[in-house]
Amino acid sequence: MSADDINNFRQIITSNGYRLTRAREATFRLLVSSEPQSVAKILAKAKGTVDRVSVYRNLELFEKLGIVHRVYIGWKHKIELSDDFVKHHHHLSCLGCGKIIDIEDESHIDEFIEHVAARADFAPRRHIFEVDGYCHDCKPTKTTR
Ligand SMILES: [Zn+2]
Ligand SMILES: [Zn+2]
Repeated sequence: MSADDINNFRQIITSNGYRLTRAREATFRLLVSSEPQSVAKILAKAKGTVDRVSVYRNLELFEKLGIVHRVYIGWKHKIELSDDFVKHHHHLSCLGCGKIIDIEDESHIDEFIEHVAARADFAPRRHIFEVDGYCHDCKPTKTTR
């Protein structure tokens, strides 16, 4: 987590009229991860630092302020920092083992979205593009169902 990220976080909290508390900043620091994390995992990391109720409350606030977003795998979800903090990317989510593979936009997904939006004279602000399916390890048995 860079100093810029921390400053950006503080700026978002305070400019929306919220107090910058120790628990909020500690919760934010737990969100740094190479992959989206389940709430259970975030709670485990928070143990001894931020209490359970505060973690839930802070995540709810962070979602409202666009600091984090949910990545859905079927009905379940994981939490990930928003594009304000990590480079914009998309996901391939495995319905078998819950693994989430990040994909940067090699296939011009973003260009396509810009294109269709422009054609509709629409100013896009945000998009989520998720692919659910089965990873290499889960594929052979699961796809035959
Ligand atoms: Zn899998
Ligand atoms: Zn995109």
